Amino acid sequence: MRVEFLGGVRTVTGSATLLEKDSLKWLVDCGMFQGGKELEKRNWKIQPYQAKDLLFILLTHAHIDHSGLIPKLVKEGFRGKVICTKATRDLCEVMLQDSGRIQETEAEWQNRKGKRAGKGEAVPLYTAKDAEESLRTFQPVSYGEIVQLAEGVKARFQDAGHILGSAIIEIWVQEGGEEKKIVFSGDLGNFDQPIVRDPSILEEGDVLWLESTYGDRLHKSREETVQELLKIVQEAISHRAKVVIPAFAVERTQDIIYTLGQSIRSGALPPIPVYIDSPLAISATEIFKKNPDCFDRETQKILSGGENPLEIPGILYTRTTEESKAINEDPRPGIIVSASGMCDSGRIRHHLKHHLWREESHIVIIGYQAEGTLGRRIVDGAKTVRLFGEEIAVKAHIHTLGGFSAHADQKGLLDWVSHLRNPRLEVFINHGEEKISMGLSQLVSERFHFKTSVPQWREKRVLFREVEKEMPEEEVKEEFPPEEPLSVLLNRLDRTYKRLRRKLKREKKKGEDADRPRWWRQLGEVHQKLEELEKEME
Ligand SMILES: [Zn+2]
Ligand SMILES: [Zn+2]
Repeated sequence: MRVEFLGGVRTVTGSATLLEKDSLKWLVDCGMFQGGKELEKRNWKIQPYQAKDLLFILLTHAHIDHSGLIPKLVKEGFRGKVICTKATRDLCEVMLQDSGRIQETEAEWQNRKGKRAGKGEAVPLYTAKDAEESLRTFQPVSYGEIVQLAEGVKARFQDAGHILGSAIIEIWVQEGGEEKKIVFSGDLGNFDQPIVRDPSILEEGDVLWLESTYGDRLHKSREETVQELLKIVQEAISHRAKVVIPAFAVERTQDIIYTLGQSIRSGALPPIPVYIDSPLAISATEIFKKNPDCFDRETQKILSGGENPLEIPGILYTRTTEESKAINEDPRPGIIVSASGMCDSGRIRHHLKHHLWREESHIVIIGYQAEGTLGRRIVDGAKTVRLFGEEIAVKAHIHTLGGFSAHADQKGLLDWVSHLRNPRLEVFINHGEEKISMGLSQLVSERFHFKTSVPQWREKRVLFREVEKEMPEEEVKEEFPPEEPLSVLLNRLDRTYKRLRRKLKREKKKGEDADRPRWWRQLGEVHQKLEELEKEME
């Protein structure tokens, strides 16, 4: 069978993989690219498949970098089912519509700007209405249930411990009379994360997709991280200052509510105003409360003791813009939790504008900040940042607390992999920045002697080659699409190279560019590949 890596490779966003068995085609995840114009252009690119030809989409979890392009596909004619857990479906209902609204606002803004520049009309990738309509394609399944998807293809969703409803997906396919098992780790959580259950342990598999977001570092323990947060809050209280926490609307926000709630209930923190300033986070919290069957034992215990783990005495939910603005007029010390988690959009930008320049304020970064985002620039120590056309000085205390991450660290990932027993397991490392994925690939290969690699965007692979070899000659030949003989491929290569030269020349004239070292490195790799090929032919 064949696979094509359509996203979430050598980057953390845009997760999507096309799988093809005989004439059956399906996707695992269908995520949106985020983090800069270049990357986001991929959201618009023509896909290597027709949406109507896809039989189904298996969705690991609701985060937009995994689900964000589903409404676009439905709009383009996808008529199959999106298979996911019930909580994922519930979360997608609010998250995809929110994403549709963001796309609409973005297009409106582009149009206002474009009109002045005499440009053509910008259209949204999809609208909130498209998102709402796409929900009818969702088919919830239970954790642990084996679902027959087509002749010779079945799947099962297991706990991934990342966010509510998140899943590791196991897929079994019949290939040449043998059954093979493919595993997608999805985004893997930590073992001591609150609210959701721990990731399931798997022992069997022939091919594995392994995420690598934090494949290069170790988180501090949860206990230490909570203590750090409490210290920051106490300091803010003593200076009558505010603590601003950019948090992903799903899971990170609820994790912070849970942690602050526990601390206030136990007396470790005095009661303090906690503002949840994100309509999406408020809706997501409601969905959490409606899906207690996804909670871990500890959270269930709090529930059965008559307390709500997602309530804090004095918590203030702000839905309207007016309420949101009023927060910064409140002279009391307080904690503001707002989205987006990477500071690229949403209300958090207003709070950052209000607090980044204040020496007494605290900004607490608890989630992953992708390359190219405002959050990443703040973490990397920018002295000033631009917000709403204004240059804002960064004088506030900036803290990074890795222990609240919804992703396993290096040790967590390696521990999880260590249970897989098949010595011939093939591992694709995905969902990580290039350098980090490469590092983890080497570690997994050294430690477990599995065959590992870090695929490129749009790279195609054939799985289970041994099985395919036994097939008649013609079928193996299919690997080269018949419409693309060598001469066509070489011509295309020539043209791409010429275009690239022209682009590089233009970029050189423009002067400084932060992307340049990465381009040089990639060009170096291409050159090396070509030389290797040349040698092979000698
Ligand atoms: Zn995720
Ligand atoms: Zn992700």
